[in-house]
Formats: sequence, structure tokens, C-alpha cells
Amino acid sequence: MNNWLARTAEDTSALRAMRWFTITHGVAMGGFVVMMALFLWFAHWSGLDEADPLLERPLQLAVVGLSLSVLLILLLLGRHARRRLAAELERDRLFTLSPDPLCVLGLDGALVRGNPAFERFFSPERGEASIIDRAHPDDRHVVSNAIESVARPGQVATSFEARFLPATADQTGAPSWRWLQWAVRRDPNSPPLLYAIARDTTERREAEAALAAETLFRQAMEDSLLTGMRAFDRDGRITYVNRAFCEMVGLPQQELIGARAPFPYWPDGDEVLQMAQLERLLAGATPRTGFEVKLRRSNGSVFDAKMYVSPLIDRDGRHTGWMTSISDITEPLRIREALAAAHERFTTVLEELDAAVSVVAPNDPAHETQAPELLFANRMYRQLFGVTGDGHCSLLKARAEAGGNETFHNGLGRWFELRAREIRWVDGSVVQMLVATDISARREADEQLRWQEQKLQQSSRLVTMGEMASSLAHELNQPLTAISNYCMGLAARIRAMAAQGRNTDPAVLLEALQKTSAQAERAGEVIRRIRNFVKRSEAERRVCRVSEITGEALELASIDSTRHRVRLQTDIARDLPDLLADPILLQQVLLNLLKNGVEAMRDPPPGSPRVVTLRVRRAGDSLEFSVSDRGAGIREEVQARLFEPFFTTKAEGMGIGLNICRSIVESHQGRLWAERAEEGGTCFRFTLPIAGEADLAQAA
Ligand code: ADP
Repeated sequence: MNNWLARTAEDTSALRAMRWFTITHGVAMGGFVVMMALFLWFAHWSGLDEADPLLERPLQLAVVGLSLSVLLILLLLGRHARRRLAAELERDRLFTLSPDPLCVLGLDGALVRGNPAFERFFSPERGEASIIDRAHPDDRHVVSNAIESVARPGQVATSFEARFLPATADQTGAPSWRWLQWAVRRDPNSPPLLYAIARDTTERREAEAALAAETLFRQAMEDSLLTGMRAFDRDGRITYVNRAFCEMVGLPQQELIGARAPFPYWPDGDEVLQMAQLERLLAGATPRTGFEVKLRRSNGSVFDAKMYVSPLIDRDGRHTGWMTSISDITEPLRIREALAAAHERFTTVLEELDAAVSVVAPNDPAHETQAPELLFANRMYRQLFGVTGDGHCSLLKARAEAGGNETFHNGLGRWFELRAREIRWVDGSVVQMLVATDISARREADEQLRWQEQKLQQSSRLVTMGEMASSLAHELNQPLTAISNYCMGLAARIRAMAAQGRNTDPAVLLEALQKTSAQAERAGEVIRRIRNFVKRSEAERRVCRVSEITGEALELASIDSTRHRVRLQTDIARDLPDLLADPILLQQVLLNLLKNGVEAMRDPPPGSPRVVTLRVRRAGDSLEFSVSDRGAGIREEVQARLFEPFFTTKAEGMGIGLNICRSIVESHQGRLWAERAEEGGTCFRFTLPIAGEADLAQAA
């Protein structure tokens, strides 16, 4: 048996000893009374009382009185012992039956005695002598501090909470510490002992911990809310506001809780409306779908908010107030307004566009014959094609037939440039949008421009020929003179032979005629070349050899150069690729450059050879043509205006040659420029891109 039980037994036996003492004491007093009675009887019998009569009466009285008082004392003692025993049994029962562990401790926490509940909780088998040793290692200091404090003089009570390991393990078999709330008292008038009562608070603590966790969770949830929450009691006093609401209006919680209307977040001058709204709210008359209000921040700025109201009901089902949730809708409102404005702008732009814009839903393959559904059409489309999708479809059909983006609409007799693309419609389906721009005016202008350009180019060629007129006359004069000479020589010869009565030798005749014919051919060739050069006005691109361009140009240029005693020199690379170009236009460019070069050589710097060189070579993806002379070069002020139309430094010049040359080269995606030639004089260069095999094959 352990110490606590021994002590409990000791205590019970003390009670028994007391009872025993009362009984033996009673028996002893009874014995004393009997002895006194026997003594009196003996005195009487032996005649002792007769021998001394003075002694007899008082002695008798004393014996009787003493006996009576002894009896009375015995009775009182017996009753007291009975009551005390009953009280102590009662106390023992309380001690024994208490469901909470009760114990008596020494001032150092040593266990003196414990009740059965205590026994049940702390295993009797374990031998720790002190309650401190039984506490959880982390809580031992709490227990020892509490015990030390109550043991100090002047301190009579303390309480603490600590974990203790119960004797019985939990269902899993693992030791599970339990929280005990201790109340410890010391009776300063009694022996140095502490009286302690413990209550198992594990469940309460667990519930508290769960509640704290729940509270923290709710707090976190509440704090993370962007929606402002505010509660009113039924009198319209604010009873709660969350952080989001405080941040929204820029006021601290303590300033809002308990506040009554007018509230500090009501915009100035808006009180009447706000008051009416609050009254509706308190009367439960606000719409369930929410309503918009204006609130004021502490910095004075006003913002729009959407408010929803719901009743607050307590656990007894009583209506205690109203909970309102408030969202700042300034940004959504701004976005909505911006979107509406953007939409309006967009629609206005679309409506005012000169192009016809239409959106058509793709035809259901099952109903191919049905007219396509027109989902959107702007003003221009409606004007041109009405409110059906037929116009959209007819344009696309015409485009498919024409094979390009520019198409002619027969019904309207107009040209359109079409841009069609698939887009995702508002309902998520894929639809087709078509933007048809009326380009009739542009095409007409383009046509006009092209025609004018061609005319200009042709005029320029004519001008070139005009400028070369005297050279041409000279060039043609030579074969014509030769023809005339041959004919006249031949006629004289025939006449002389006839005068001699002889026939002219046919061989002589034939030779003369052949020479005549050759001269006629030469003249014819010059005329053909000139005709070819000036006749055609329509641009025509085709595959042509470089030699075809350079040969003709050189032939024509040589007419002028010969006259001015300028030598035309060529340096043309071999195996040059064919070009995809208009040969006549390029001949025109070359002739112009060669002619300018020859003209620059009219008055060459002293010692300069009278040579103009035409070079052609490959430069990367292009062919580079260059015409260089050995003239005086171009002055700076002339250089800046070289390609200006009608700029010329020549008395008989027109000044359109270089301008047209540049536009011809650029229309062939090339580039024309002038630079100082290395040997002195001027070098005009132009490049032409080399056409790909596929383009050449297609054009051939
Ligand atoms: P035009 O020959 O009728 O004057 P161009 O447009 O062909 O018209 O030439 C414009 C001007 O450029 C010429 O008047 C001349 O001053 C200058 N120019 C052209 N080629 C040369 C050149 N090779 N050397 C010097 N100046 C030139």
C-alpha cells in the first residue's frame, strides 16, 4: 500500500481511537462512581460514618453530585463524539465521492493524501513523491512556482493550469496529457499542508483552442474580404464594421462602432437622401438586389458603392439588426462608362467609315441555299447593299473570280478593295467579317496617272529623238547619199555601156544593187529602231536578255556619239541572268544616260579621253548598270536638283530625262543615283532586282 492510502487509514483509525477513548473514559468514570458507592456502603456497614457523623452527610452528597456530573459529562461527551463522528464521516464521504481529484500536499508539493478520484487519475503504482514531478515537463515550472507562491507567508491561495499524465491511456494506447485546473489553499492556522482540488479542463481547453482557431480563421476570412461589412442594431446604431469598410471610408473602427446617423462617411449635402435610405434600410424596405449609394472617404473624396442588406437574427430567432455589405464600384463604374464610351466611339467610327463593313454567320451546310445571316452592317454597307447578307456574298464571289483583293462589282459598277477575315463573334461562334473599300476613284486616278506616265515617257522618248534629230538626219543621210550615189553611178554606167551598144555586166549590176540594198537596209534599220523606240506607249514586262537592252540603246546612242566623236565603250559581264522588265523603257534609261554622258563630253577637261563607258555586272541579288563619262562632273548645286523635273542646264534641254529614268528604274523595283566617277567625270548607276526562276517561268 502506498503512502497516501496509509495516511488515509491512519486518519480513520484516529477517529476510531477517539471513540474508544470516549467509551473507556465512560467506563472508568462509571467504575469511579461504583467505587464511591461501595465506599459509602462500607462506611455505613462498618459504622465508620456513625463514629464520625460529621463526615456522613456531606460525603454522601458529594458522592451523589459527583456521580451525577460524571454521568452528565459522559452523556455530553458521548453526544459530541457521535456528532463529530457523523461530521467526519460526512467529510470523508465528500472527500471520497468527489469526482474531482482532491489532495493534501506538503509545502514542497509532496503528496500527503489523495481522494479516490485522485487515485484514479494518478496511478498509485507510480512512485513520484511530489505533484511537481507528475506535471508535463514543460509545465513543471508553472506548478512549482504556484506551490512556492502559496507556501510563502502572507499568501494563502493560488491556482494554476498544467498538463498531467493520467494513469489510464487513451484509446490509441498513447499517453495523452490532460489539462488540470488546480486551486490550492493553505490554512495558516493548521499544520503546514496545502489543500488542492483539480478539475480536468482538457475538453474546455480543446473547445477553447478550437474556438480560437475558428475565431482566427473567421478573422482572417473577414480581413481578406474586399467587401465592406457593417452591422446596425435596430435603432440604427453601428454595432460592427470590418477592416475593408474602415479602409473604404478611411475611418478607424472605434470611431464607427456605436455611431449614429448622420455618419461621418455621408457625403456633404447628401444627408437628407442618406437619412431616407437609412430609414428604408431599418424598415427592411431595401431591394434584395442591392442599391447604389455614395460614400465619402475621410479625405473628402466621394465614391460610388453598391450595398446589399440582410437581417441579423440571433440564436433565439429574434431580429436584432441589419448586416450590410458594401462594395466600392467606382472602378467597375469607371470601366463600364469607359467601355460604353469606347463602344460608342467604335460604333461611330464604324458607322462613319467610307468602307462597307459587314459580318455574316457562316451558312449551315445543311441549308446551303439559304441567305446568310447578316449579323452586323455599317451605314455604308446598308446604303450599298441593304440589310441582307447578299452583298457580302456577291463581293466575295467576285473576288474569288477575279483572284485578287481588288474586285469589280458588276451590279454597282464600282471597284472594291476587299479584306475578309474570320473573327470570333460575341456568342463565341466563328463568323466572317468583310471590309469593302470603294476604290473606284483611286483606281480611276491610278489609271489616269499610269496613262499620264506612259504619255510622259513616250513624250520623253520623242524629245530624246527630237534632240537627236540632226544626228538622225545625219545618220540617215549617209545611207541615202550612198544609195543615191550607187544608183547614179549605176545609171551612168548603164548609160555609158548603152552608148557603146553594150550591155552592162550583170555581175557589176548585181554588186551595185547589193550595195544599194545594204545601204537601204541600214537606213531602214535606223528607222525601225527609232520607230520601235518611240511608238509603243503601253508598258509591257517580259523576260528579256541584257544584251537586247544594251544593244539597242548603244545603237541609238552611237548615232549621237559618232557625230560628236565620242567613243562608246562597253564592259558587260558574261552570263548575266535574264531580266523581267520592259526592254523599251530600260533602253530609254540607258539611252538617256549615254546621251547625257556624250553631251558631257562635248567640252571635256583638257587631256580627257572622249569615252563613255557602259558597264553591267551582277551585284548580289541585282544587276548593276553604270554609265560613266570623263566630263567635268556635276556641280554641287546641280547635283541637288539632278532628278527634279524640268531642271536642265542645257540651252536646248528639257530637263525631264533623269526624272523619268528614275521613275522607270523605281517602277522596276530598282534604284538610280549619280556619283563622281573614279577616273573623273560622272557615273550614273542603277540596279535592277534579278527575278526568281519561278517568276521568269511564269512570265515566259
Ligand atoms: P536634260 O538632259 O534635258 O537637261 P536631264 O534630266 O537628262 O535633262 O538632265 C538634267 C541635268 O543634269 C542636265 O541638264 C545636266 O546639267 C545634268 N546632267 C545629266 N547628266 C550629266 C552628266 N553625265 N554630266 C554632267 N551633268 C549631267
